[in-house]
Amino acid sequence: MPIAVKTFPALSEAASALAGDRSARFLAGGTLVMRALNEGDVSISTVVRSTDRAFAEIRPAGARIVLGAGVTMSQILANRELAFLHPVARAVGGPAVRGAATVGGNLFAPAPYGDMAAALLALDATVQLQGGYGGREMLLEEFLGNRDRQTGVIVASVAIARPAGPDAFRFRKVSRVKPKGHLGPVDRAHLPLSGGRIAGRASPTGDGADSGPGQGGGAGAGRARPSTRPASPRRSPSRPRARRPRTMRSPAPGTAARCCPCI
Ligand SMILES: Cc1cc2nc3c(=O)[nH]c(=O)nc-3n(C[C@H](O)[C@H](O)[C@H](O)COP(=O)(O)OP(=O)(O)OC[C@H]3O[C@@H](n4cnc5c(N)ncnc54)[C@H](O)[C@@H]3O)c2cc1C
Repeated sequence: MPIAVKTFPALSEAASALAGDRSARFLAGGTLVMRALNEGDVSISTVVRSTDRAFAEIRPAGARIVLGAGVTMSQILANRELAFLHPVARAVGGPAVRGAATVGGNLFAPAPYGDMAAALLALDATVQLQGGYGGREMLLEEFLGNRDRQTGVIVASVAIARPAGPDAFRFRKVSRVKPKGHLGPVDRAHLPLSGGRIAGRASPTGDGADSGPGQGGGAGAGRARPSTRPASPRRSPSRPRARRPRTMRSPAPGTAARCCPCI
């Protein structure tokens, strides 16, 4: 089926085009949308994108920093002012994914994804929304609570306050499988609790470096609580490890399927 690609210089025009077409999908970095298209998602017949410069800009706004929703994880990693977000951006996929995946797109990524969304939530972010009718601002928390009902709306930007000091905000990705880097069992079981805000993200399936899109339909982000569970006892050698079957899962609406856990 042919797919129409519509590009608009202004985000407001893109939002109008989205609002008027139920089969249109906004395209940001495309890490999930292009995958869905390549896998034959017939619910999408039009892809809407925007070349609005503000969409990919990082700019200070008084005590806050505004991240255009089209800012990529790599852009964050290249920006010293955003050092507090570097561990978060680094936790998202591999280099190729980070070069394309956007802040806005991460707000829509199904669980267990959403590392950036979880961090922004802990930073009390607000989102600027652009609809066909105009724009409005709301708390990220409120936005995520109604995310699935926000059709025809584009997230234009996300605003956060700079954390007060180096220890005021920390991020730790918690995973059941060994993620990139080297979290030991003790690290995995305990998040540090030494004041400040902690954005953590527990992954039920093991998100690691490049796991594929998750189980579908998840909330995407949440304020993480430090785990108080003790490290799990060593597995007895006589007990076989339970394995997840490597089967193709039915994709949740609007998400791509996962055909094996290694992609
Ligand atoms: C191999 C792989 C590994 C990954 N690993 C991780 C990981 O470890 N941690 C993690 O958190 N995430 C991970 N991800 C998910 C990744 O973060 C998301 O794919 C990415 O953030 C989505 O951004 P995008 O710009 O590519 O979105 P797109 O694919 O362009 O869009 C995704 C969805 O969001 C909507 N959307 C995008 N931007 C906006 C906007 N501004 N306004 C309204 N709607 C919008 C689109 O319409 C679409 O429905 C991984 C993805 C892949 C493919």
